[in-house]
This record gives sequence, structure tokens and C-alpha cells, in this order.
Amino acid sequence: MIAVLKQGTTLQQRQSLIEWFKTMGLDVHVSEGKYHVILGLIGDTSRIDVEMLESLSIVESVKRISEPFKNANRKFHEEDSIIDIAGVKLGGGHFQIIAGPCSVESRDQIISVAKSVQASGATLLRGGAFKPRTSPYDFQGLKADGLELLLEAKRETGLPIVSEIMSAEDLDLFADVDVVQVGARNMQNFDLLKALGRTDKVVLIKRGLANTLKELLMSVEYVMAGGNERVILCERGIRTFETYTRNTLDLSAVPMLHELTHLPIVVDPSHATGISRMVEPMAMAAAACGADGLMIEVHNDPMHALCDGAQSLTPEQFDHVAKRVAKIREALQ
Ligand code: PEP
Ligand code: MN
Repeated sequence: MIAVLKQGTTLQQRQSLIEWFKTMGLDVHVSEGKYHVILGLIGDTSRIDVEMLESLSIVESVKRISEPFKNANRKFHEEDSIIDIAGVKLGGGHFQIIAGPCSVESRDQIISVAKSVQASGATLLRGGAFKPRTSPYDFQGLKADGLELLLEAKRETGLPIVSEIMSAEDLDLFADVDVVQVGARNMQNFDLLKALGRTDKVVLIKRGLANTLKELLMSVEYVMAGGNERVILCERGIRTFETYTRNTLDLSAVPMLHELTHLPIVVDPSHATGISRMVEPMAMAAAACGADGLMIEVHNDPMHALCDGAQSLTPEQFDHVAKRVAKIREALQ
């Protein structure tokens, strides 16, 4: 349920209403918009008399929210959330490109890729250290050493870093990682989501291979319900009957999620298609349909990449994609 307060409501009036909700066992989420203050009520609101609430002099309107996701709901928070990642803003008109290799492989590799993607306009560096591989015999990532190398690339370039976590046990290792990624395969690892909800880390949650948008939003809710509101969503393609592409990029997820939630949405055209030459057209389409950012895999030597070489762009190809995406964004202004 949400209660929209009238303009001119004093802080004291607001506070006493909040206290009253709390005595009813409800959690109250306050969203201060440009024109209105919205109180989002979380918990069992069945005991609240809507007509009585509406009759209060400071209340403009009251609405029940039928969706099971509350914190992420745009009705709770009308304006786009802008997530500040070590000074890099994402969402609400701030568009960013996250680029880097699927996996951190060596010092030379990550630093060289970091420098080239930065020169082409990427503002965040990605690199997997803990890799969720389908086969246990495939490269599993450099783990703690990989994170160390990523941090070295961060110190060298100043780019904030994004890396995937697979288990809450590894959280301490992510202390200096700016964005903790929850991969598609872990989207419903609820213990991991709860643990991230107790941190102040920016969390990027990728849509699961076969998950609906509602399920994605409920996973987001796990993090937000724990008190961490700094969440970014990522559409990375879903599994369909199509086999020419690795996944099927569901771009309609972008405008739909924008309606449903105030949180930023980035698109990963690399995992969505699995084919490097498909990355440019889909990155452009994602920018055109309103994505707040892109996540693109870039490798200095895709032919010899330890993971996802077929979908990785060379730094030169990435430079071209970044320029084309910038043109799309200019055309939209
Ligand atoms: C990744 O970003 O490297 C990754 C494994 O992605 P996804 O979880 O989308 O498959
Ligand atoms: Mn990958």
C-alpha cells in the first residue's frame, strides 16, 4: 500500500503518521519526489482502514499495490533511481557502458583491456574471477587472484569494477569490488541475495535463463528487503527454442521493467547472442529502447580467450560499437 502525502505536509506530521504505521507492525519506505512524498507500507496492511487514512488532512491518496514486489515498484518511488558507483552515475538518464573480458586471465590481459575500453568510452570495467561454468572441467576463474588483478586494473585506470560472486562465503573478498554481480544461474540463490541485502554494495542482478520479469523483480526484492537499495537489473537473454543464437535477447523487458520499477536496467548483448558480430546491432537496439547501460565482453585476443571467446569483441570492434551506440543516443536526445 502507498500513501501519497499532500504538498506542505510538515516533517513532524509525516513522522507521527510513520510512527502510527509502525505501531501497526508495518515497515515504512519514504520516497521524497520532486512534488510528492510517498510512504510505502510494507507488511500486512489488511488492518488499515483506507477510507480513514484518506480522510486525514495530510494524505492526498492511498493505493493498494497488488504486485508482490514493493521496494522495487515504481509506484513506491516515481522517479528513476540513480545509482552512484564510486562517482559513476547509472540510471535516470545517466548511461554507462560496462566492458571487459568474460574472465580475468592475467595481469597483462586485464590491464590492456581496461585501458583500451576506457579509451573507447567504457566507464566501468568487468571481469569474472569466480566463473559459473556449465562443465566442471572448464576454466573456473582465477578466484581471489583474479579479483586482485582486477583491483590492480582499477588502480591503474580509475575505472570502478564489476565482478560476479557465486557464494556469500566469498563476500569478504569483494570488499573493494564496486559492483557485485549475481549471475543468471544464481538469480534465485536466495541465501546469496539475502546476504547481499545486508551489505552496502551495488548489486547487479542478471535475469535467469528461464525466469520471468516478475521473478527477477522478486529476486531484487530479496536484496532491497534487507535494506540495500542499490540494485541494477540486467537483461542478458533467455532460453527459447531458437538455437542460432546462444539465448534470445528479450528487449521488451527494458520498457516493461521501466514501467514496473524505478531501478536502472542494463542490457548484455554478449551473453544474449553468444556471437560477436551480433553484439553491435543488439547493443544499438538496447540503447534505442531505453536501456540505462550496456555490459559488453571485450578480449584482447578472443581466439584464445579462456571463456566466451566467440562472443567477445576485440578492443577495435568495441571502439566501433561504442561510437555507434553514442550516435543512437545522440539521435534520441
Ligand atoms: C558473465 O557475465 O560472465 C556471465 C556468466 O553471465 P550470465 O550470468 O548472464 O551467464
Ligand atoms: Mn561470459
